[in-house]
Amino acid sequence: MQILNWQTLDSQVQTKALERSPLIGDNGLEQSVADIINAVVTGGDKALFEFNQKFDGVSIDNLRLSNTDIEQSCAKVSSEVKQAIAQAKANIETFHNAQVQPSIDLETQAGIRCELRSEPIERVGLYIPGGTAPLISTVLMLALPANIAGCNKRVLVSPPPINDAIIYAAKECGIEEIYQVGGAQAIAALAFGTESVPQVDKIFGPGNRFVTEAKRAVSQDNRCTVSIDMPAGPSEVLIIADAEANPEFVAADLLSQAEHGADSQVMLVTDSNLLAEKVNQALQQQLAQLPRADIARKALTSSRTIIVNDMAMAAAVSNQYGPEHLIIQTEQPRQVLANIRAAGSVFLGPYTPESVGDYASGTNHVLPTYGYSKTVSSLSLADFSRRFTVQELTAQGLETIADSVMILAAAEQLDAHKNAIAVRIASLDANVDNE
Ligand code: NAD
Repeated sequence: MQILNWQTLDSQVQTKALERSPLIGDNGLEQSVADIINAVVTGGDKALFEFNQKFDGVSIDNLRLSNTDIEQSCAKVSSEVKQAIAQAKANIETFHNAQVQPSIDLETQAGIRCELRSEPIERVGLYIPGGTAPLISTVLMLALPANIAGCNKRVLVSPPPINDAIIYAAKECGIEEIYQVGGAQAIAALAFGTESVPQVDKIFGPGNRFVTEAKRAVSQDNRCTVSIDMPAGPSEVLIIADAEANPEFVAADLLSQAEHGADSQVMLVTDSNLLAEKVNQALQQQLAQLPRADIARKALTSSRTIIVNDMAMAAAVSNQYGPEHLIIQTEQPRQVLANIRAAGSVFLGPYTPESVGDYASGTNHVLPTYGYSKTVSSLSLADFSRRFTVQELTAQGLETIADSVMILAAAEQLDAHKNAIAVRIASLDANVDNE
């Protein structure tokens, strides 16, 4: 990886050093995804069959998997994989069950009752990536919180042919509707509905830049009202490491993200030149053993090592980048953590590789990319519900705040607002006079 010394760079070059490549929303991508979406809106299932053939080289008769298809796929999954899924599922359920929030019901003043309640989102679409690798773990990350939240209709889509273990994991999570379609066309189908694929209220899941751009586009399309979870695009990791870190561990963690796709990005921030050199050597050794070395090599071309003066500067660089995954392999990782302001998910110490969070520790692996971790949170149970407020005032409660509300309404020149209070106060006063 290219090694840069942060202190010697001017601020423009520093910003460039932290740029993602390629950026979401570049013109060519936007147009090609818009064309795919429009083709699905007008062509429905027929367009989905054509895109399956064009982008995935697969010709299928039915978009929806039948119960027999599902049973046959499940029977082919090894008991080893089934056991691994069971352990991951238990941990993810435990962590997400713990996120259930009690509703709020209180009086802000005597006679003024305010509540915060939440209701599950009715229909959710779950996108499971399958272009270059079948992301079995993503089924657990999406379907389990959707179940815990109580979402009624859970529709899963994934590029064909769908891996047997994805189908098994879906069945284990109680998903009954599985459609063989991926990419931007799957997102369009969920947003608008087709003859086979039902329209949903919110689309969840990570994906490559076509999927991510399609999610952005449908969420802003005034022909539908679908929401999305977040921009969860090509994977990124930033590792903060000091001279104490094991270069082989660091290299292995960098490659575990680089192998996701040529557009993945990995960054190392360290205060040790020696570590940076050792990591570069370890990368070459480990790459030689990797089946997906070609993909990882391409990702490494847009990846960088940044040399900083100390760990405070390392945290500042990381905050400016806002990584999806942040690994801290330093002597005192929690001291560095205290200065971290933006990251999708953080992994502390030598024995916490990112892979554990990707699969089985319990945290969610659907995380904001492109620097959105500065404002967008990692996927959680709350994303599968919508919150709404309730209020109820007694006559006494209304009298307590009537003057303030009427003064503010008058200041905003909204007389009808003021009048909605005034007529009630007048009625209360009349009742008192009549007694
Ligand atoms: P994918 O399912 O996201 O995309 C595959 C689909 O892309 C294909 O089915 C095809 O329809 C479409 N496609 C491919 N080339 C196309 C083209 N030229 N034009 C139009 N459409 C095209 O699977 P993937 O490609 O393996 O990508 C998965 C991505 O998900 C990776 O980038 C990975 O880093 C990312 N990921 C992100 C997170 C996160 O939380 N941010 C988590 C896991 C994975």
